[in-house]
Amino acid sequence: MDKLNFLTAGIPASAKKSSYEEGLKVLDELGLDGLEVEFVRGVRISDVSREVLIKNSKDYVFTAHAPFFINLNAKEQDKVDASIRRILETAEVTNDFGGYSIVFHAAYYLGDDKEKTYNTVKEKLALICSQLEEKNNKIWIRPETTGKATQWGDLDEIIKISNEFAQVLPCVDFAHLHARSNGEFNAYDDFCMILERIGTEIGSYALNNFHAHVAGIAYGAKGEKHHLNFEEADMNYKDLARAFKSFDVKGVVVCESPNIEVDTNILKEYYNSL
Ligand SMILES: [Zn+2]
Repeated sequence: MDKLNFLTAGIPASAKKSSYEEGLKVLDELGLDGLEVEFVRGVRISDVSREVLIKNSKDYVFTAHAPFFINLNAKEQDKVDASIRRILETAEVTNDFGGYSIVFHAAYYLGDDKEKTYNTVKEKLALICSQLEEKNNKIWIRPETTGKATQWGDLDEIIKISNEFAQVLPCVDFAHLHARSNGEFNAYDDFCMILERIGTEIGSYALNNFHAHVAGIAYGAKGEKHHLNFEEADMNYKDLARAFKSFDVKGVVVCESPNIEVDTNILKEYYNSL
């Protein structure tokens, strides 16, 4: 990508109707760059929405968040199969409407150790990548850094798995890293360390094709509780924006605060002021 793009998580709240067509008008008014389509419960999109996204995919950046019911480490085969299917469907639909990348919460440990879970996730991602290759679908597939210690996907795991597959890169959810560690990962130096590691351990292409999530977040000893707006939370989005600038990060940053476009705009304006 040629710059850092600022995306809302879903259709902006102030859109006259909850439609992509109206949502894009809000993005235009604010000078935002695109949005992440939220497949919360299933990979469903109406023909009208699909057409709007296809028609606008040259002028905006679109990404997608796969449904939440995904666990590549599930103990029942039918749940694993359904998880793989949801990721593949998200990749297919998003590729069809001209999207840039998809993100998902890959797995829960369910009592397994980190190594066993890693190997299971890797095995399932290999299946996913080979199916995408067969279909010539080249969209980025991104497991996300997760918000709870019970969920697979700390920074080490996400970096390591990204090195296993050409088509896999991280989605770094900075609010999740902050919440998962009960308050760490929130200073300029921490953000720089994360970007430095991604640039050296995966390669500079990972910083030129970055996908970040950020939001205010409530957390405790067990990690993530729920998202908050920036002004209600301690998420240090200003230093994060500074770190993006220092590393000349390109790609997308999706803001997941409940006020959607308000915080996305605050983040973009702060970044542009640097
Ligand atoms: Zn997510």
